[in-house]
Amino acid sequence: MITIKKPDEFEKMAVAGAAVAVVLRTVKEAAAPGVTMKELDAVAADVIRSRGCTPSFLGYHGFPAHICTSPNSVIVHGIPDSYRLKPGDVLSVDAGAIYEGFHGDAAITFGIGELAPAAQRLIDTTEAALWAGIQEVADGARLGNIGSAVQAEAERVGLGIVREYVGHGIGRQMHEEPQVPNFGKKGTGMKLRTGMAVCIEPMFNLGGAETRVEADGWTVVTADESLSAHFEHTIGITEDGPVVFTASDLSSGSTGD
Ligand code: MG
Repeated sequence: MITIKKPDEFEKMAVAGAAVAVVLRTVKEAAAPGVTMKELDAVAADVIRSRGCTPSFLGYHGFPAHICTSPNSVIVHGIPDSYRLKPGDVLSVDAGAIYEGFHGDAAITFGIGELAPAAQRLIDTTEAALWAGIQEVADGARLGNIGSAVQAEAERVGLGIVREYVGHGIGRQMHEEPQVPNFGKKGTGMKLRTGMAVCIEPMFNLGGAETRVEADGWTVVTADESLSAHFEHTIGITEDGPVVFTASDLSSGSTGD
């Protein structure tokens, strides 16, 4: 179902989104060689609660943690475990929070120490694709414009675009209609309207686009074991135009960091 949010509901989404931004920044700061995924999950849990929010991932269809930690060839939905980070790792972290019944959802990918140039380009291109998609969000804009802009970034440098997992509407539910694919044709698809909120979340692979789900039923990996990156923001189309609720100094689009 597509839901239309009122201004006071967008205010709650902004609080949830700000909490998610702080979770991601804090987890990134804590991520270093030797640190485990479970330790990062504990960091996230503390931040979510300290911001007066509740975790949205914990218990979602039985998911056992507060964040998804997806290292290297894991695309999305990695369960925080005893894996210890090492220099050269590429780590994607996805986080969600609820404030007074409204959701925020975002993801980042970063390297541990120095990365190989191809790995760094994968990360930078995926983040650039997220912002290219965000530029297309407006009252009256078509969904295909977002997918087309995201797709163009991946194709420019020959990255695999994950197709089985896509962005989504968001509000009182973490996953609402419409689906927001990372591919598409300009001028096609439904029209976005003021009051709608969407999550745009490109997932690009250094190798092929094919995916596989591991035996735990959650962990999505690249079929060819190539590296993968994932970035996501929650964007609401308010009366004053699009607002990125989960933006913070982590996002290259919003600071000079
Ligand atoms: Mg999402």
